[in-house]
Amino acid sequence: MAGLNGPVLRADEAVLRANIAAVQARVTPAELMMVVKDDGYGLGADWASRVAVDAGVGWLGTYDIPTAVQLRAAVGPQPRLFAWVTSSDEEIAAALHAHIDLGVGSVEYLERVIVQADATGFRARIHLKIDTGLHRNGLSAEEWDDGVRIALDAQHRGMIDLVGAWSHLAEASDAEDDAAQARFLAAVARAETLGARLPYQHLTASAATWERPELRGTLVRVGAFCFGVRSADGPDLPGIAPAAELVAQVRRIEDDEVVIGAGSFDGLPSTLARRVRVGTPGGARELRSVGIDEMRVEAWQGASVGDEVVVFGRGRCGEESPTTLAEAVGTVGEEILCRLTPGARREYR
Ligand SMILES: *Cc1c(COP(=O)(O)O)cnc(C)c1O
Repeated sequence: MAGLNGPVLRADEAVLRANIAAVQARVTPAELMMVVKDDGYGLGADWASRVAVDAGVGWLGTYDIPTAVQLRAAVGPQPRLFAWVTSSDEEIAAALHAHIDLGVGSVEYLERVIVQADATGFRARIHLKIDTGLHRNGLSAEEWDDGVRIALDAQHRGMIDLVGAWSHLAEASDAEDDAAQARFLAAVARAETLGARLPYQHLTASAATWERPELRGTLVRVGAFCFGVRSADGPDLPGIAPAAELVAQVRRIEDDEVVIGAGSFDGLPSTLARRVRVGTPGGARELRSVGIDEMRVEAWQGASVGDEVVVFGRGRCGEESPTTLAEAVGTVGEEILCRLTPGARREYR
């Protein structure tokens, strides 16, 4: 039963496990790094990470270091944790204490990581990022040789281990991604010529990992698909299902509408009104309006206070998934999940 006050995001461990298994089966022999940024795509990073590690996932990826440090405490010493955003010196030091692999996308950051490794006495494991076209972060082709040389020099002095090379794809067109991969492979080859050994080479996130095996390196970074979030307007994914459903209870009934306890304050887009159907005990019904903490739904025969309405959830005859909901308002499934506030209570089963 949903809480009386607001909606409940109900996450399902069995589904998450099945998704992870489907991704692993698809990518092997590449290793899976499960990305759990944005609090595990809204479902809860600690929970998702524990499930993943128990399912044999060897790598977890987070955007920021504080989350990675928190996950180290949650999942213990075994799994590798990768944090990739450029961070403060204090955060670098905390990452080194917690044995977190660092994504390094500039020479300036590399030099600060080396200083912190020297200061703390912990050997930093770093993955150097080559910019392959997104121009967000990453060493340019011109900076690459210098970056590799600085890293190898620090490795010889015992401060770091350069263990990987990585980049991120635009996933806008196959041709662009092919060109990005060519730049990536050239950078890897160049680093090896300079003396680097790079066991971890990673380039792809969910969509490219799934659809384009030739782009996978030795490691793939997959978030959305592990959580069952299909790409907007993307293909169905065999073996992958939404790992959470969003439900809300009927608060009252007014004429031909029922009022349920979920709204824009919980993070739901108000543009959903009249664009989607929700799952009710009486079948699929139109969502009529979205208020701050209440939504109105076309009534059904025999509706009563406390009935559970499924805003999205598999096989419950409303919207199947966060992605189908998102498609109705021109966004992506991740956005629907990640915008849900703590007002949408998380429940696990
Ligand atoms: C978000 C992110 C991923 C995972 O992307 P999905 O499409 O959710 O699988 C991988 N790598 C980086 C750098 C990211 O920011």
